[in-house]
Amino acid sequence: MSFSSEVKEELSRQTDSARHCRIAFLTALFHMAPVLTEDTIGIRTDIGNAANAFAAVLKKVVSAPVREERRPRGKSCEVTITVSGKDEVRSLLEAMKFGTTPNSPMQSETEIRATLPSRLILQKTCCRKAYLRGVFLMTGSVSDPSKSYHLEIVFQREEDARMVVSLMESLGFGAKVSTRKGRFVVYLKESEQISDVLGAMGATGSLMKLENKRILRDIAGKINRQVNFESANLRKTGVTSKRQTEDIEFIEKTIGLSSLSASLRQAAQLRISMPDASLQELSDASEPHVGKSGINHRLKRLEIMADELRRGNRENM
Ligand SMILES: [Zn+2]
Repeated sequence: MSFSSEVKEELSRQTDSARHCRIAFLTALFHMAPVLTEDTIGIRTDIGNAANAFAAVLKKVVSAPVREERRPRGKSCEVTITVSGKDEVRSLLEAMKFGTTPNSPMQSETEIRATLPSRLILQKTCCRKAYLRGVFLMTGSVSDPSKSYHLEIVFQREEDARMVVSLMESLGFGAKVSTRKGRFVVYLKESEQISDVLGAMGATGSLMKLENKRILRDIAGKINRQVNFESANLRKTGVTSKRQTEDIEFIEKTIGLSSLSASLRQAAQLRISMPDASLQELSDASEPHVGKSGINHRLKRLEIMADELRRGNRENM
């Protein structure tokens, strides 16, 4: 399952505890995919998670039975979630603030889609979060945080996109709008903001996952840099010690290690016996003890000596 589907799956299980939040959530979905007749109200969508969530919340708001119809449509399945009864229709429309006066003519489905939800629905912060969850379930997506950071919600109408941007702004998120194929895309690109939006909508499990991946990505970056650094050092040590060993062997062949001073001989023997050791390891193994820089200094002198010997300049040493 993609990260986006995981998020939506998790969001679809949230039902909120307060009635005002539940109404705000229902409003978001009803506004985007309304089914409305004199005595039927609900939504029709092929987004399974959105349909499931709408049904679950609707069951908590109305006492009448909630009907679910599924009809295959191409590769997906169109789901219709409704409740029946003139009273249910009226009271839900009233709760969602679509046609508030008892005698006002009922709006058509097209009008519901074209009417921005009332601000009264979105007064409380909790309700704005519930509304955001609703629109995200319908047309939102979020990229896998181990690949990139991108969260978006796509709208048919610019007014809806603008409204959601200002709603997100009121929750502290700086979303932007772009257009794509005649649609309006509200998006966030910053990992921290994406985390916070997921948290605000109630996807805390997915949020943890995102945070973990973010941390892993950071750690992986650090480890990589460290490994690169260390292997560069190791390569350097390897090349250096091979050259030192050759130098010492050359000295042994020409003048013999016995002609070296005790301190140089000690360093030469250490290097010969531990060809892959670092300076620190040579220092640790030295007896009597010589510090790392002392070992380094002596090996350098041996190197110079070998160079001189190769040039036949022994007398200049
Ligand atoms: Zn609320």
